[in-house]
Amino acid sequence: MEVAYNTQNAVDDKHNLIVHTQATNTNDGKALYKAAIQAKENLQLQKQDNLTLLADKGYHTGAELHLCQQENMITHVAYKEQPTVKHIDKAFLAESFEYNQLTDTYSCPAGAVLTTLGTWHHKKGEANETSYRFKTYRTDACKTCKLKDQCTKLPKRIIQRSEYQNAVDINDNNIKQNPQYYKRRQAICEHPFGSIKRHWGYTHTLLKGLQKVNGEMNLIMFCYNFMRTKNILGFSKMLKQIQNWKPNYDKVVCSAKKRLISALYMPIKQTFSNTHCSSPFLKAA
Ligand code: SF4
Repeated sequence: MEVAYNTQNAVDDKHNLIVHTQATNTNDGKALYKAAIQAKENLQLQKQDNLTLLADKGYHTGAELHLCQQENMITHVAYKEQPTVKHIDKAFLAESFEYNQLTDTYSCPAGAVLTTLGTWHHKKGEANETSYRFKTYRTDACKTCKLKDQCTKLPKRIIQRSEYQNAVDINDNNIKQNPQYYKRRQAICEHPFGSIKRHWGYTHTLLKGLQKVNGEMNLIMFCYNFMRTKNILGFSKMLKQIQNWKPNYDKVVCSAKKRLISALYMPIKQTFSNTHCSSPFLKAA
């Protein structure tokens, strides 16, 4: 029997160093915040420090985007195209309805205003999906609307708005405004996986069980960071940096993983000032 886990990696955009890694048995939809906040901690950034996140559409979950943005992370997570609905004309899909933040209303393509009673409904996520609350918006204008056949089969069109829609809108706007950022995602996060899987031939783990696999994955990511750091600094300079490294043990977290990542990352950070980090995440195929 074969068992598969996901490996969530955060990779620095300047040096292609792995700043966080974790083997998980959950899907990507719930992984963004946990990985991003760990990456921020490993980079010794404060809450108020900005961190730009690039991730593919598997990570596009409203609750996760909301949590990341609360921690001053600028999210650039690819969004899924809205699925077409057989009986709804493309011009009447939900994205064509304009939301007004001040009045908490929507304007439809026919110019009618959809209002809400303000009641929160609960949407239970299936399997690995996240649960969330949403409100509904509708208008009496549907009863006499000449465009109704293109818009809905129900007596009134109903628009749902998730409690995380603001975070989703901010993220999607970031993607639209900065397409060049997202294009870099693959080049950043494929670098480690390309080296580890294609160059070194490490395509499966030797151990079984989540905890052991996580330990094994941490070791292989450490090896990658070690080699990468040696390539950037040269061996003698890297050794000197490690010898001169004086960690504050009060702050160093006990796990060997974090010590090793910090040990390798900090010399790089000292060498290249003004480091700007983007952290894309990718599951191991
Ligand atoms: S059916 Fe209702 S929501 Fe749709 S376009 Fe007409 S008035 Fe607007």
